[in-house]
Amino acid sequence: SFGASVVPQAPEDPLFGLMAAFRRDTASNKVDLGIGAYRDNNAKPWVLPVVKKADDLLRQDPNLNHEYLPIAGLADFTTASQKLIFGADSPALKENRAVALQTISGTGAVHLGAAFLAKFYTPSNPEAKTIYVSNPTWANHNQIFSNVKLPIKNYPYFSAETKGLDFKGMIQTIEQAPEGSVVLLHACAHNPTGVDPTQDQWKEVASLMKSKSQFPFFDCAYQGFASGDLNKDAWAIRYFVEQGFEMFVAQSYAKNFGLYGERAGCFHFVTGPSSDAADTAVRVGSQLAILQRSEISNPPAYGARIASVILNDEKLFAEWEENLREMSGRIISMRKALKSKLDELQTPGNWDHITNQIGMFSFTGLTEKQVLKIRSDSHVYMTKNGRISMAGLNTNNVEYFAKAVDKIVR
Ligand code: PMP
Repeated sequence: SFGASVVPQAPEDPLFGLMAAFRRDTASNKVDLGIGAYRDNNAKPWVLPVVKKADDLLRQDPNLNHEYLPIAGLADFTTASQKLIFGADSPALKENRAVALQTISGTGAVHLGAAFLAKFYTPSNPEAKTIYVSNPTWANHNQIFSNVKLPIKNYPYFSAETKGLDFKGMIQTIEQAPEGSVVLLHACAHNPTGVDPTQDQWKEVASLMKSKSQFPFFDCAYQGFASGDLNKDAWAIRYFVEQGFEMFVAQSYAKNFGLYGERAGCFHFVTGPSSDAADTAVRVGSQLAILQRSEISNPPAYGARIASVILNDEKLFAEWEENLREMSGRIISMRKALKSKLDELQTPGNWDHITNQIGMFSFTGLTEKQVLKIRSDSHVYMTKNGRISMAGLNTNNVEYFAKAVDKIVR
């Protein structure tokens, strides 16, 4: 039977535990900087106006039904997703070297890629059947890859000293990794650090990985949300495609459409140019479909329908870009406000990283002890590693938060 020696009590998910603690806190000035979901200036969830429009359009459609989607998902959605992430005129698309399957948001896409690697990845050196993930990374990466028994190793990523990228450490580890290893890369707005390589650094990573025949697995959860520019945020992915890599991309629409709970995402495979590239894409796609069928049969329809309506309509697409600029713009303005409040208070330490980092998160550099103290003293909730969700800040609480930080570091 499933006694405690066989099935021990699992720890609570740290992030969802933090959310529960926040809800229990009765202080009126409490601040939630935990979960990575966008909040408007009133700390409320935001339904993107363009999403509301698409939703209304769908609900008026007399032909809408609740039939199953195909195994690979809604074709209008996956085709538009390919264009969005690789660029509409990508040679990989023109040459049919890419295949896409709709997934259960970004998590499902990472999982599908993981399951495929576990089943089919056979580098000549068996030790290369290992995925290198950044240290730190989105905590779920470790669980997803260990679930499919794909060995995981780390590459250094964050420099505690500069609170920026440890590029040297990253490159050294990738260099020392066996030929043919898999490397997981955050396409933009690295979670949890908010630190991204520059374009020149990406070029170096690509050239190194090329020379070592390594396999890039991009995780893209923040396209358009990081800089406000969909093309800019996809730059690294498109550069790797240009370099002819065979690679995976996990694409999430949770943040950039605010479709968190609708679970809209896409998994992409691209192979490099060759005479049998199109055939490879078809074969890989067929096996991905088998995996998908055995795990979820077919993906959920509604979120993908909403995204598809917007992605395939020029006017709605332009409105979406406007909504993206509003979200990313508010976050960037909160970074500036926080930095200037800390400067005003002459808070000890260097806080340049607050404005240098990008996307939803900032790695503040606060220690676990400080994180716990700021929680008990000031009712500010952030993860133990000192990560804050910038979206939790607004014009009503940014000064309060800056003062709380100031108090804690003095
Ligand atoms: N990867 C990263 C790096 C993320 O930050 C997230 C969102 N927290 C995801 C993937 C996937 O999230 P979702 O399954 O909600 O799309």
